Amino acid sequence: MSNTPRIPLLIDGEFVQSTTSEWRDVVNPATQEVLAQVPFATSAEVDAAVASAQAAFKTWKKTPIGTRARIFLKYQQLIREHMAELAAILTAEQGKTLPDAEGDVFRGLEVVEHAAAIGNLQLGELANNVANGVDTYTLLQPLGVCAGITPFNFPAMIPLWMFPMAIATGNTFVLKPSEQDPMVTMRLVELALEAGIPKGVLNVVHGGPDVVNAICDHADIKAVSFVGSTKVGTHVYNRASLAGKRVQCMMGAKNHAVVLPDANKEQTLNAIAGAAFGAAGQRCMAASTLVLVGEARNWIPEIVEKAKTLKVNAGTEAGTDVGPVISCAARARIEGLIAAGEQDGAKLDLDGRNPQVPGFEQGNFVGPTIFSGVKPGMKVYDEEIFGPVLIILDVETLDEAIDLINSNPNGNGTAVFTQSGAAARKFQEEIDVGQVGINVPIPVPVPLFSFTGSRASKLGDLGPYGKQVVLFYTQTKTVTARWFDDETLGHGVNTTISLK
Ligand code: NAD
Repeated sequence: MSNTPRIPLLIDGEFVQSTTSEWRDVVNPATQEVLAQVPFATSAEVDAAVASAQAAFKTWKKTPIGTRARIFLKYQQLIREHMAELAAILTAEQGKTLPDAEGDVFRGLEVVEHAAAIGNLQLGELANNVANGVDTYTLLQPLGVCAGITPFNFPAMIPLWMFPMAIATGNTFVLKPSEQDPMVTMRLVELALEAGIPKGVLNVVHGGPDVVNAICDHADIKAVSFVGSTKVGTHVYNRASLAGKRVQCMMGAKNHAVVLPDANKEQTLNAIAGAAFGAAGQRCMAASTLVLVGEARNWIPEIVEKAKTLKVNAGTEAGTDVGPVISCAARARIEGLIAAGEQDGAKLDLDGRNPQVPGFEQGNFVGPTIFSGVKPGMKVYDEEIFGPVLIILDVETLDEAIDLINSNPNGNGTAVFTQSGAAARKFQEEIDVGQVGINVPIPVPVPLFSFTGSRASKLGDLGPYGKQVVLFYTQTKTVTARWFDDETLGHGVNTTISLK
């Protein structure tokens, strides 16, 4: 028997080994070392996880709000104390640099802090005297068992977008992490139990399409939150909606950064290089598509020079800017899209294929790559590349840039770089994209606000954190109440629908 650790499931408060015969290796993308094996859970294991969550809901939904809040206060402290350990696990299985891995954990930690403020968030409304002696008020009640399905690119932040807010609002949860990098997620789950999340309130099943489909179909799951590609998210949305669930899907992207000629040049070039190539371009908010307006089209040589200064290396090495991409298959796909860009006639200004990375010759590395002269219809424009590839288009006016972006099927993130308030305001008003940055290249909102998206980047009405998520994870009940004291005289029978 091999010594490779096998990742457990979490069912009913116990970390248990799956009985499945189907396992997948979790691989270090910088070295190809097999770090662990992850099970593809059986349908009986999914059922057991849901049954445990269903049973736990009976008591958890009645747990006082202060008790729930204090668990997340403790949890945020534990995450802070384990930050370096969490980042190291994340970098080993996902590839991003250690500072960026800390950023991944930190952006999730912010949502845990938000969950600790649940007492101020899950408040209903009350209208006094809506009729004589009658008050109407709302209760925001938890739904029951909720589930989350997460992608590989933020294995700390995105699970933390989901289960803390679902549980803080009084629900129980079944999490299905990405099968490509589930180890940091599992460490975060261990810490959540240590913080006091009771048995059955949080469960974890691992797997691929079969487990996801079982979650979508399960009669006892009330809501599903998904983050991942548009193709899978659309499938999850349709399947889970058909099964009567509340569903939110945050999906794929093609994020355009528009540069006007009056922009602060040095700041803009730095912002673009970081946002296009950081995390090896595997951020859903990566600024992968640059739209140079008018004279800004002359900046291409400087953008290329800036990209050349970035250091490609394993995420564990100090000074690394661009780590490996997640898998050999992802690397092959990105290289295939670079070849397609050349075939389609885009100008390859910087070719990052096959970079030399001494000591990590087996790693899935692609260096910063830049295409200019890109047009809609070319594969590099039409597909989400999800690698360190920046494509550049040029237009004459801001109006043309806005039309281009609004015509793209995706609407996840966008940014405008300019010194003109009027141009920025026009952009903010007319652009149809969820997250808009003004001289901010990756405008991911902090959890006081909600992450959102337009068109193919999002399905479902409500976002995964901020105020909206409280509505997503609760059912609003309105109560209209009248109390009689012993002296109250009757008004006779009322056959109208009005309250007197
Ligand atoms: P993915 O869609 O391949 O996988 C996401 C989840 O779906 C995983 O848990 C996976 O196991 C499961 N899955 C995969 N194939 C499936 C299938 N055929 N049927 C059912 N389930 C399936 O996404 P990924 O490659 O892990 O992540 C990258 C994608 O996620 C990119 O498109 C990126 O833009 C997107 N993303 C979006 C956001 C956002 O907030 N909009 C955030 C992060 C990532």
